[in-house]
Amino acid sequence: MNEKYTIIKNANRRRILVVNDVVDVDRTPELSFEDFDAIFINVISSLTDRNMLAIRLASPLLSEKCRFKPCYVTRRLMGWIGKAEVIVDGYATVPTDENMAQGIEDIYANMRRINFLLGTEPVITHAEEIFRLCRYAISRGQFTFSSEPTPGLSLGYMSLYYYTLWFEGQENLQMEERHFFHAQLLKLGYIRRTRFIDKIHVCPVCRRSHQLFFECCPKCGSSDIREEPVLHHFRCANVSPESSYAWDGELRCPKCKHMLRHIGVDYDKPSSIYTCNACDETFMYPDMRVLCPTNRQTWTTDDLLPIDVEEYEFTPEGIKAFANYDIRYTLSQVGFYGYSSMRDFLDYLRLFSQPDNERSDLFIVARFYVFDPALDNIVTQEVTPPVVQEMSRFVNYKNAMWGNNYYFLCRAPEGQLARLQNQMEYELKAELDDYQQMHEGFQFELVDTYIYHPGDDVESFIRRIEEDRR
Ligand SMILES: [Zn+2]
Ligand SMILES: [Zn+2]
Ligand SMILES: [Zn+2]
Repeated sequence: MNEKYTIIKNANRRRILVVNDVVDVDRTPELSFEDFDAIFINVISSLTDRNMLAIRLASPLLSEKCRFKPCYVTRRLMGWIGKAEVIVDGYATVPTDENMAQGIEDIYANMRRINFLLGTEPVITHAEEIFRLCRYAISRGQFTFSSEPTPGLSLGYMSLYYYTLWFEGQENLQMEERHFFHAQLLKLGYIRRTRFIDKIHVCPVCRRSHQLFFECCPKCGSSDIREEPVLHHFRCANVSPESSYAWDGELRCPKCKHMLRHIGVDYDKPSSIYTCNACDETFMYPDMRVLCPTNRQTWTTDDLLPIDVEEYEFTPEGIKAFANYDIRYTLSQVGFYGYSSMRDFLDYLRLFSQPDNERSDLFIVARFYVFDPALDNIVTQEVTPPVVQEMSRFVNYKNAMWGNNYYFLCRAPEGQLARLQNQMEYELKAELDDYQQMHEGFQFELVDTYIYHPGDDVESFIRRIEEDRR
C-alpha cells in the first residue's frame, strides 16, 4: 500500500519525509518540525498543478514545518516544475540516493558554518517573506545574485527576490517593495555591487523590460516599410535603389542606360534604403517606435529608461545578519505592503506622499472599528492578532491595527479612484463578514474611507485618519 507520506532514514541517519501524494504538511498534526530533516517529493501526477501543489505544501520556503530543510524531487519531474525549481535542491531516483544524501550533508554543513538559525517564526508580512527568501539563498551558500530580468516575467526582477507568493496584477507593488528592500540592503552594507552585466531599456512609466519595437516611416509613422539595397554605378556615379535598375529581368542604369556588368563588376551596394508602402516616402534610417504592451503607451527609443543589470553579493555582515535573523531589527518594513505596525503604516504615508516621488497616486485609507474577544487573551504586543492572520492574504493592502482600529491602505491612479474604493470596501467587508461567521462575538464596522490627494499636507491627513479613536 502506498501511503500519502512516510519517514525513512538514509545512510547518514537523516530522516527523510517522503511525500507520495499532496500532503498539507503544516496542517497535518501528526507531523512536526522535529520529525524530519529533509524532504523527498515523490508525487507523479499527470496534472502538473498537482505536482506543483505537493511541492508548495512541503517546500522549504512556504511550509513552516519544512522551512529551510533540504528538498529533493523525484527525477521523473525534472524539467516539469517551472519556477518551483528555485526552491528545489536536486533530483533523485530514490530518497536514499547517495548524491542526495551528500547534498543534504553539504547544506547542513553550510548552515553550521554560518550559524544559521533554523527555527524562526511564521511569516506574516511581505517583508518577512522576502527576508526568508534571502535567508534561504544564504542557507544554500548562494551569496551572489544579479538584477537580470527573470525569464517569463516582463519585469526586471532580481531573481533572488522573485520566488515569493505570486499574485496576479500586483507586479508593480512588488517591484516597488523589492526596490525599497534592495536600497536598504545597500545602505546597511549587507550587499555590495560586484560587477556590471548589461544595460537594458524599460518603459519609463511601468518599468517593464518587455517592449515591442517597430521600425517605421519618419513621415507617416507606418511600419509597412521595405528595405532594399542601393546600387552605385561607377561609370556615371548614379546612386539609386536596386528596383530602379530593374529592366527586363536584368539590371540597367536608370541614368546612363548602360547595362550593369556581371563580370568585372562596375557597381557596388554601398548601403540600403527604405521605402514606405503607405506613403511612398524613401529614407535611409527608419524611426523606431516602441509600444509598451502593459500600459499601451507609445514611446521613442530616447524615452525609454536605461537600467543597469548588475551583480551583487552578500557581505559577511549581511550573511551574519540574515543567518541569525538580526535583520528583523535592522531592516525597516515601512516600504512593504501587507501587515505592519501602525508606525510603519504612517511612515509609509509620509514616505510615498513626498512630492519628488515618481508616482503621483492617491491613497485610499479604509478604517474599520473591530472588536474581537479573541484579542483579550493576547497579552503581548508581539503576537499577530488572529483576524490579521485571517486577512493576511490581502497582500495588496498595507494594513495595521491600532487598538480597535483596523486600517487598510491602497494606492490608486487618479482615474481609478471610485472603482478601487468600491472594490476595496466590498472585499474587506466580505472578508470581515466571513471572519465574523466563524468567530463568535467578533464585531466590525466601516468607520470611514479617507482619500489623500498628492500635494495635501500629509500630517493633517494622518490626524484625520487617527481622530476619534474609540
Ligand atoms: Zn509600460
Ligand atoms: Zn510613410
Ligand atoms: Zn549609369
